[in-house]
Amino acid sequence: MARRFIAGAVCPRCGKQDKLVLDTVAERLECVNCDFQEQRPQAVGDVVKIVAPDKDSPPRPR
Ligand SMILES: [Zn+2]
Repeated sequence: MARRFIAGAVCPRCGKQDKLVLDTVAERLECVNCDFQEQRPQAVGDVVKIVAPDKDSPPRPR
């Protein structure tokens, strides 16, 4: 299990923010609010900039 929430990302299906998770193993984008899934989305390139190469970065305080 290697899932990472994409901060600030908006689901293209349900329109909810911060519901998208990136499965870093399958390289698949999923929404936890609806059943949206996308395999290796190219458009997420800008959004996924928070993804570190190996280690989890500490969550930002909100
Ligand atoms: Zn959704």
